[in-house]
This record gives sequence, structure tokens and C-alpha cells, in this order.
Amino acid sequence: MKKIFVCLLIFIALPAFAQQHWKTHDWSRPRPPVVNPGSFSTQQQPGQPPSDAIVLFDGKDFSQWRSMDGEPANWALKDGYFETVKGAGYIRTYRNFGDCQLHLEFATPYPPRGKSQGRGNSGVFLMGRYEVQILDSYENITYADGQCAAIYGQYPPLVNASRKPGEWQTYDIIFHGPRWDRQGNLIRKARITVFHNGVLVHDNAELWGPTDWLKARPYKPHSDKGYLALQDHGNPVRFRNIWIREIGESAVQRKEVTVAPKLLDLYQGDYQFGDWIFKIRKQGDHLKAQAKSDYWVPLFAENDTLFYSKELELEVTFHVEDGNVKGITRQLTGSKSFGKRK
Ligand code: MG
Repeated sequence: MKKIFVCLLIFIALPAFAQQHWKTHDWSRPRPPVVNPGSFSTQQQPGQPPSDAIVLFDGKDFSQWRSMDGEPANWALKDGYFETVKGAGYIRTYRNFGDCQLHLEFATPYPPRGKSQGRGNSGVFLMGRYEVQILDSYENITYADGQCAAIYGQYPPLVNASRKPGEWQTYDIIFHGPRWDRQGNLIRKARITVFHNGVLVHDNAELWGPTDWLKARPYKPHSDKGYLALQDHGNPVRFRNIWIREIGESAVQRKEVTVAPKLLDLYQGDYQFGDWIFKIRKQGDHLKAQAKSDYWVPLFAENDTLFYSKELELEVTFHVEDGNVKGITRQLTGSKSFGKRK
């Protein structure tokens, strides 16, 4: 009986053990990279981000931010923070992010004005689609799934950990984006963990789809990285000390940005490579390239002029002179050539 039990134990334990490549306390196991963790913020002063974070705002400039149309961000830059400008519209990051750890600090207006959703409303949108609500929820009643730190329209926060209006508050968000298979079937929903002022308010919450007002929207396939957006809801909400760390596979993937639609319009066209016309077209907020007659591949931008494929060894650099595209340098499976704009 004992033998059978031991055999059974080995049988059950083996797969788990086999998955772990390293022996317990194996000295040859690579050690994690060293990161200076930075420091915490106080009301008077923002903290230092971890040394491996991508700093999105350090109180000085909008270099990492754009308006939604790709033009320079037009919110108000003040002394060490920026502030929503009513009617200026949302702003977004130039760079795209996938799975990540995000730190962000905000302060709702003091003295408080308005009530319910009209008081200190803004929001942070992961991948431009999944909103963690920002609101003045200090002694301000509204619907539960729309109060501060709610995953808007889906999950109220576990507790209301809001500080008073005018005080700096923190969000620490861990986000895993959704995934689809090649046929477009959803294989992983988005998941969010949120700490509001250090207090856990979402514990790995699984999203039903993109967040929206008054409706539940289903998931629609999108790429595995996207910009971060901040909402203009007409209230002057302040932001400071925003940084992000990509995690998992997102951290090792090539850098990706969202290029202004007007540049994509400029780039789309036909390019001559000998007898071959190489076609590039705009599709939503991306470009796509014709690899073969019936085979188009999406192109992703590393910066405003360099685009790459995630499927093929293909890179395209656009050459712009006086506002016109002269041609492209195309690198295909290692060999480079220049094609003129037709
Ligand atoms: Mg909002």
C-alpha cells in the first residue's frame, strides 16, 4: 500500500517538478537583474521611480504625451504637474505598452465642485480601452462601479481608499492585456490589479470587455500593445510622477509607438522595386504592407519613420523631404533596397 502511495506521489509530483528546470537552491540559476527601487512620494514631493521604469512624466514636459490626433499634448503644464484642460480632449502616450506595472499620481480639485460624476472626474485607460476611474470620491456619492478606482462600469473598488480633494493620491496598477488566437478567438481576458493609495482595491479582476458608459461592450481583437490615455472629463485633475514597467513577454518585445494618423495617410501608397510594386496601406491606426498578392502583413512603428512586421523579417523606413515621401528603404530577410514612391 505504502509503495503504491509513493509511486502515486511521484507520478503526481513529477510533471510539476519537470516543469521547473532548476534544482532547489541551484547556484547556477541566473539571478534577477538588480533594480534601484527608488523612493515613495510624500504630499510635498513625488518619489523616485525604480531604475528600470520608463518615465512617462517627471513633472517637466509632455515629451511622452500626445493629443489623440498625434499633435502635441495641450493640457496645462504647471509647477511639477500637469492638469486637464476642459475641452482639450484626452491625451495619450506616444509609446505603446502591453502587460505592465503602472504608477500614477493624481489630485482632484480643491475646493471640490460639482457632485457625483461631475466632481474631479478623469480616468486612466490601459491600451486606450480599459478605464480605471479617477474621481473625487471623498464624501461624494455616485454609482459604485463609477466611483474612484472603479474599473468603470464593471467593478467597484473593494474599498473606498480615497484621500481628500487636493491631496495627492496614487494608483499602482498591474495589467495583463487580452489575447486572441490567429483565428480571432479570445483566449485570455484582460486582468487588472489595483492599489489605491497603497490599499488593494482590485485583486486580479477579469474584465468583461472594454469599459464604457451605460453599456457592456464585447471584446474585439486588437494588438497586444496600446497607448495609455488620460481622460478629459471637464474637471481640472492634476497628475504627477507617472512611470511604467513592461512585464513578461511585453518587456522583451520590440519598442512600439502610435504614429499620428496624418503621417500614416502620408506614407500609404505604392513604391517601385524593379518590376515589383510594393503596396502600403493604412488600416485603422496601423499600416499594412503587401508581402504577396493576397498576403498583407500589419506594420508596427518603432518611431515616426521606421516600421516593422511581427510576422516577417521585414522593415520599412520612410524618407520624407519637404513634407513628401520620396521613397522607402525596405529590409526584407536581411537584404536592403530602396524603392521610389510611384
Ligand atoms: Mg472617468
